[in-house]
Amino acid sequence: MDYVFAPPHQPVVPVAGAKGGFPVRRVFCVGRNYADHAREMGALAQAEGREPPFFFSKPGDAVVSGEGEIAVAYPPATANLHHEVELVVALGGGGAFVAVDHAKSLIFGYAVGIDLTRRDMQALAKEKGHPWDMSKGFDQSAVVSGIHPVTAIGHPDRGRIWLGVNGAVRQDGDLSAMSWKVAEIIANLSSLVALAPGDLVFTGTPAGVGPVVRGDLIEAGVAGVGDLRARFY
Ligand code: MN
Repeated sequence: MDYVFAPPHQPVVPVAGAKGGFPVRRVFCVGRNYADHAREMGALAQAEGREPPFFFSKPGDAVVSGEGEIAVAYPPATANLHHEVELVVALGGGGAFVAVDHAKSLIFGYAVGIDLTRRDMQALAKEKGHPWDMSKGFDQSAVVSGIHPVTAIGHPDRGRIWLGVNGAVRQDGDLSAMSWKVAEIIANLSSLVALAPGDLVFTGTPAGVGPVVRGDLIEAGVAGVGDLRARFY
């Protein structure tokens, strides 16, 4: 069928060691998946078991990616833009009501991501009981490194996850501290929406989130996956 105007540009993330890119469909994010971060947000008084996972999303075209240093536009409507370093799962398969035991077979690869958050706007939304959307799903709010295929790196379930700003480390955690593991996240999310190839899942951030300003350089990494550099302008 013809269109009444040109269809949207397909967001794409480079794949390490491959010619073809990863076509992004949707971006799902898990909230408060590390107890130390839930605590720093005032959302968890003490570690008494894990709360059920909850999700929010960003549009696929919120993804900003590329080879080498990624240029990221500082967004409007905030004076407190926060970084959240996260392990990103890139799905090559899909389905609904996926069993935990089957979930990892959907994964094409992994990347390092930064879930950028307008923290001031999010705090106001929480206070008023409003949706988080505009504090999370704005343009260039999902910074993603190149994707490393499972065929090359396997399935990382432990190892350092860290982020620094201008050379000073701010977030320093371990994947093993995730409250909900990757397979559980996929299974749970697939009970809410039918997952599809091209979906990205941000799996939550460890403690140490904080502000970035124009000119800052973020360096971040996940052991066994890769790293990422992003400069804000
Ligand atoms: Mn996050």
